[in-house]
Amino acid sequence: MGSEKRGPEDASGMEFAGGADRVDDDYRLPDVEEVVDDIDLEPYLDQRHDPLAGPLDEPAAVDVSAPPLLVLRDLLNDERFPEMFHRALRHADPDFRELFPRDAGPVLREFVRAMSWALVTTEEALGDRTKVEEVVDFARHLGADHRKLELAPRHHQRFGEALTNTLRHLAGRSWDDRLQTTLTTAYRVLSSALQQGAGQEDGPARVGATVVEVLRPTRDVAVVRLISDTMIDYHPGQYLSVLTPYSPGVWRRLSPSIPSNPAGQIEFHVRDVPGGELSGSLVRGVGVGDRWVLARPLGMLEVDRTEPFRDVLMIAGGTGIAPLRCLVLDMLRHGQNPRVHLFYGARFPGDLYDLPTLVDLAATSPWLTIQPVSEEDEDPWWAGPAEELPRTLHRRQTGTLVDAVTRWGSWADRQVIIAGSPDMLRATVRGMVAAGTPRENIDFDRP
Ligand SMILES: Cc1cc2nc3c(=O)[nH]c(=O)nc-3n(C[C@H](O)[C@H](O)[C@H](O)COP(=O)(O)OP(=O)(O)OC[C@H]3O[C@@H](n4cnc5c(N)ncnc54)[C@H](O)[C@@H]3O)c2cc1C
Repeated sequence: MGSEKRGPEDASGMEFAGGADRVDDDYRLPDVEEVVDDIDLEPYLDQRHDPLAGPLDEPAAVDVSAPPLLVLRDLLNDERFPEMFHRALRHADPDFRELFPRDAGPVLREFVRAMSWALVTTEEALGDRTKVEEVVDFARHLGADHRKLELAPRHHQRFGEALTNTLRHLAGRSWDDRLQTTLTTAYRVLSSALQQGAGQEDGPARVGATVVEVLRPTRDVAVVRLISDTMIDYHPGQYLSVLTPYSPGVWRRLSPSIPSNPAGQIEFHVRDVPGGELSGSLVRGVGVGDRWVLARPLGMLEVDRTEPFRDVLMIAGGTGIAPLRCLVLDMLRHGQNPRVHLFYGARFPGDLYDLPTLVDLAATSPWLTIQPVSEEDEDPWWAGPAEELPRTLHRRQTGTLVDAVTRWGSWADRQVIIAGSPDMLRATVRGMVAAGTPRENIDFDRP
């Protein structure tokens, strides 16, 4: 609704609405179409119209000879499913309107991917209990994460009803008792596991936090400092699911860059990912006093402290530095540490915003070596005046992180911990394995 949050992509909409004289834009009364377009009318319309009423002109093609679990998988993957299911959910329970972001497409595609995997794995298990248990474990794990949504049994039931109605609607006349029974059984098992997973966890499902400081070290990174209402006991290297006011209903994972502490201070480094749903509005819009919601910590990144110590290679791309510096800060508590070689990379030299802090840490930690890397040798003119980078023991190298790291060899004897964008993770893991690093030595959180 708020016009102050409109991004550049809305400009065409304003022109369409008749705002030809852009000089007066700030004072102009909004056009009717613009106002109506901003109001979510669906809740009112939905009360009267069942979105799945009436048969489809073209039901999905169903292979009646295929196993029912695979037929359900195919129906889920019908391109009409996400939109239809979203409407069915909104009709099924008013709470789903709040629980899902307005653009629910990405979340529902994730659901389709996970549900398809569960159905296919169960089919391929051919009754093998260990394989089926893998699916149930996955659902329990997901349920633990879903605690943040504070779902009641009613939500699970309505979600299941909406799912059944949508698949039945898509299948049309091909829907039969076999599909109905299979879906009911599969959904009952999965939703029980989800609720079990949520029930196994202790502590609050979500904690409020207030933004107390915002730093902007580069044009596209915000360092956000918050105080949480109660202390969140995360391990260094873990990440939290975060809900912010900048994109309602959109949860994203962020990694604290400082260890958990009794004062509840917590810091995140967020980069504006072009085209992303949340990060741009967060980086541009975050301000002191804003309230965030933080869910329980997840993730397994940690320094292996089994003695005798194994040297550690850390590789951070961009804001991927956050969880790795958190691990390094935590190591300062110990008298003895494994040697850590930290490669810190970005596109331009001026994007290595955390280098001053890392250099300070290395100055008092003889076990820590910092290697800066940037893909380009110089900052572009449009990035503004660049501050000179602090001196590090190893001079900055130019190239991608994976090239810089593998230039030194295979690092086969190290524990390797990597954090960064999905592309950087993929390229670095592939490149290192190709250079001879055993895959089992490499730790990273999957995107
Ligand atoms: C375990 C974990 C920890 C994370 N910690 C942080 C963190 O500390 N700081 C932070 O800024 N982000 C972090 N992220 C990424 C973050 O969760 C969001 O994905 C990111 O902020 C983009 O969100 P979005 O809604 O703007 O874009 P989305 O709509 O989620 O994604 C848009 C596209 O950008 C891709 N993308 C996601 N992250 C990046 C990235 N960093 N660089 C380039 N492309 C990307 C996505 O794969 C997708 O294709 C973490 C992700 C994971 C899985």
